[in-house]
Amino acid sequence: MTTTELTDTDIATRGADPAVGARATEQGALGWLADEADRVRTAGLHRDPIVRRADTPVVDLASNDYLGFCTHPEVVAGGQAALAQWGAGATASRLVVGTTEAHIELENDLADFLGFHSALAFSSGYLANVGAITALVGRGDLIVSDTGTHASLIDGCRLSRARVVVVDRGDHQAVHDALRARTEQRALVVTDSVYSIDGEPAPVADLYAVARDCGAALLVDEAHALGVRGPGGRGLIAEHGLSGAPDLIMTTVLSKSLGAQGGVVLGPELLRSHLVDRARTFIFDTGLNPAAVGSAHTALRLLRADPAMPDRLRENAARLAEAIGAPAPAAAVVSLIVGDPHAAVAAAAACRDRDVLVGCFRPPSVPAGTSRLRLTVRADLDDVTIERVARIVLDALRTVGAR
Ligand code: PMP
Repeated sequence: MTTTELTDTDIATRGADPAVGARATEQGALGWLADEADRVRTAGLHRDPIVRRADTPVVDLASNDYLGFCTHPEVVAGGQAALAQWGAGATASRLVVGTTEAHIELENDLADFLGFHSALAFSSGYLANVGAITALVGRGDLIVSDTGTHASLIDGCRLSRARVVVVDRGDHQAVHDALRARTEQRALVVTDSVYSIDGEPAPVADLYAVARDCGAALLVDEAHALGVRGPGGRGLIAEHGLSGAPDLIMTTVLSKSLGAQGGVVLGPELLRSHLVDRARTFIFDTGLNPAAVGSAHTALRLLRADPAMPDRLRENAARLAEAIGAPAPAAAVVSLIVGDPHAAVAAAAACRDRDVLVGCFRPPSVPAGTSRLRLTVRADLDDVTIERVARIVLDALRTVGAR
């Protein structure tokens, strides 16, 4: 078992290079940015956002629009109707006047669909995770996290000031040992349900059993499982029959399979009212945009009406993975390790040149030597497109010498 304790020193390391101060005075306070830019480019880690052009149709295998709802006419119309009714923004934080009836209706329907007593919507999934964790644990408490968790969970852990123990991904025995060895009374285990980098599932049922056994709560981020896994797309918690279970908190997003934007925390009613009182990213943030509420709610209705959609998505993912020689996917993410970051970037660019958008993950998002292409599959792909994409990806890998 590998466990790492996250300390304040780890958290504050960025920018602690003593040379930084000297450079800053010679070349202006931001002089060090030029050195940093050189370092990042030399390491092949510079990032340029892909700019989508309105006049260029692409096959999008880089976004998280798993069910194709982002551009679905009814989902767009749902957003437009909310925009027309409530305006371009929420106008204030949720606690002031930024809560509309539409927010409450969406929260109630999400709670009903996912089998929890209550839901609270935040303006992003990132803020939902940070807000939930920091409202639940603080100094003098323990968090047990793992090496695969999303940055928003990591940042929530850091900001909470709780002691954080990080165990290897999937090692529920290590979670048990960390919880048993604790001196803190209050403890929270946090995990993704489906890991964002490679789409692999976490042992959610084992983690829940361990957390219960040790008197800890479990927070599961279902961002990549909603609309993808579980009965009718209800996620991995539902797949394990744990919806609404005691001491279980679900977080998820409206920005992936529901095609809109926003984050949600689900759990008992007391959790919701606690977050309303204490979650800083809820209290001090302008409410979720009404257009996003309208679109997400329409997408949720469409998903409920077509519970086989997630099956079609996973079938497409399996077909594409097989065609490009990637491991069989457990969700919508097909991950193909290239190794070298420069080769991974070049392969992604070669796909883009042929109007196929694929994701490219490099350190620090993934460990050194495991730079990869990440294809996020969609329910609305037909067989011809899957075959064409597979050919383009394999050609790109050959071009950069990665196959
Ligand atoms: N959790 C996970 C697992 C994610 O992948 C993401 C998005 N990358 C988030 C949370 C954050 O969600 P949002 O983009 O809505 O802020």
